[in-house]
Amino acid sequence: MASNEPTELSKAEKSVIEQESGSDFEEENEDWDDWGEDDDNEDGESDKPFVCLFSDSQFSSCCELFEHCRLIHKFDFDVIRKELGLDFYGSFKLINYVRSQVAENRCWSCGLACQSHQDLQNHLHETVKLKDIKPLWDDEKYLKPVMQDDPLLYSFNDDEEGEDNHMTPDDQEELVRYLRNIDEMCIEDTDTLKKSAHGYGFLEQNGAKEVASSSSSHENVGNSSKMEMLNGDSEELVGSSNGKPSDKHSKASIMNLLDKDIKKANENYFGAYSSFGIHREMISDKVRMSAYSQAILKNPSLMTGAVVMDVGCGTGILSLFAAKTGASRVIAIEASEKMASVATQIAKENGLWRCTEGNNQYTGVMEVVQGMVEEIDKSIQIEPHSVDVLLSEWMGYCLLYETMLSSVLFARDKWLKPGGAILPDTASIYAAGFGRGGTSIPFWEEVYGFNMSCVGKELVQDAAKFPIVDVVDEKDLVTDAVLLQAFDLTTMKPDEVDFTASIELEPKSIRLANKSTELSSETTWCYGVVLWFDTGFTPRFCKETTSLLSTSPYTPKTHWSQTIFTFNEPIAMAPGKPCADKSTAVGTDACPASRIHLRISIARAVEHRSIDISIETSGVDLDGRKRCWPVQMFNLS
Ligand code: SAH
Repeated sequence: MASNEPTELSKAEKSVIEQESGSDFEEENEDWDDWGEDDDNEDGESDKPFVCLFSDSQFSSCCELFEHCRLIHKFDFDVIRKELGLDFYGSFKLINYVRSQVAENRCWSCGLACQSHQDLQNHLHETVKLKDIKPLWDDEKYLKPVMQDDPLLYSFNDDEEGEDNHMTPDDQEELVRYLRNIDEMCIEDTDTLKKSAHGYGFLEQNGAKEVASSSSSHENVGNSSKMEMLNGDSEELVGSSNGKPSDKHSKASIMNLLDKDIKKANENYFGAYSSFGIHREMISDKVRMSAYSQAILKNPSLMTGAVVMDVGCGTGILSLFAAKTGASRVIAIEASEKMASVATQIAKENGLWRCTEGNNQYTGVMEVVQGMVEEIDKSIQIEPHSVDVLLSEWMGYCLLYETMLSSVLFARDKWLKPGGAILPDTASIYAAGFGRGGTSIPFWEEVYGFNMSCVGKELVQDAAKFPIVDVVDEKDLVTDAVLLQAFDLTTMKPDEVDFTASIELEPKSIRLANKSTELSSETTWCYGVVLWFDTGFTPRFCKETTSLLSTSPYTPKTHWSQTIFTFNEPIAMAPGKPCADKSTAVGTDACPASRIHLRISIARAVEHRSIDISIETSGVDLDGRKRCWPVQMFNLS
């Protein structure tokens, strides 16, 4: 999994720790970047400390940690597990649930919301009737680690009895490989899927418990999601308490479940692309069309005589451009049956259809292949590495929604000539903070003379849980824009579509406006972060005419709009205003943040084609004191 920087357990961890210790503050010189670096020992194993579920105490083993929790915090993990009959997944979720509740100063067993961390500590009590407490942790969302790289999640099972549970290092390696590849398997056909899983041997040798255990050792949301994917069958798979699949839980039933989910997601997805409305919307998007038409039509030296492959041709519009610019052969691939037949008809009616069989009445250059690009081997023979130019319009909301980039990379690795062109060849995700104007609040404040602000308030609360795809006006941005992640499509690895990156948001530069060199002490409120993307048709391949497709708030709007993620609470920012009262939390009016640090993960989610986004937020004031908020999880589906 790609990451822009070393794994940083610290920030999520510290968000919990700081709340636990009752102190929101910390000196800047305890640099975040020191955390998480070099935390692997020589064997590549993690040496991360085990952080208590309820306090900032650290331990070198989970046994010590649980003993501490039992004695100090009245939380007896073994007893609770046993009495509630929690299997691996149940226990995994319970740990994340407890951490999430503690972060909000809430009692994990009775749900009491405490005023402070200290109040919570005083309140923690033994749970007498365990069976009577609501299993609130029994929710898929608690399969996502609350604390990044929480070593507890992949160690708590180590002490279980039973040799059968034990995996050899080879088994573990195989499983990690299996988990890393599971998304690629998702797009393969059933046979391949079966072969792959069989090849990794996990179904025969190991239970789902170990699968999840391995997956949780990875860094971000995406991996836990992959675990969830397997967990779709967890009830069956973990059937027995030692996590070994029982006889009746055959690998066929597991594969059927995987197949069914993926097939259903694909049916919905390609079904959506079978309606003309969506194609009309895309073709009417002038920004999109201008970028692609410029890149294809205005680079004849690239296109003339080239063998071109168009991944996901839809109506065939990009293929038609390529044919018009002089390509010698255009292979247009489309999974939607309806659109493949429409593209065929359009190619024929425009005299561009190529047919090498029969009467050969069509002498054009374009052929349409119906099927997923991952499966077209069944219907057409294309020489490996014989394609000069790979074209595709694959971008989804927030760039990565739809997961179609994986299909383009699949085609690249199979058919593109060494040094062949990919259009577009770069893609970048950007971020900026937005203010009150970017929320629903102003709209609902005054409606025909009536105050409806309760609606705006509720919508902003919801927006802290669900991303919103909408246009953000440039004037509503309160920070400068920052590059979050850049992809080079010619070299990126397929698993790099999941990533974690850190950025700093600083209040919008206003120095130019008043020509002063002083930093403004005016406070602005940052309500959240908005993401958008650019894709580039760079001079690397577009030698005659380059082009850029931008979906930013600074440029004309596109059908992608922007994707809006709202914070749990707005953060006060002022670049040049020192904290008036050091006992006040950073990010408030009295102590505005001079910058906001964000650590954002985007990864393919368990639901095929949707993505998970996690956002860790910290505010830092002029003196370097910082405050961390609990991590927010979003899903774009
Ligand atoms: N190229 C067209 C359509 C872009 S939309 C245009 O620019 O207007 C993306 C298209 O890719 C959809 O029609 C969708 O059905 C198709 N598609 C997505 N994933 C695919 C895959 N794995 N194999 C083949 N087609 C795919």
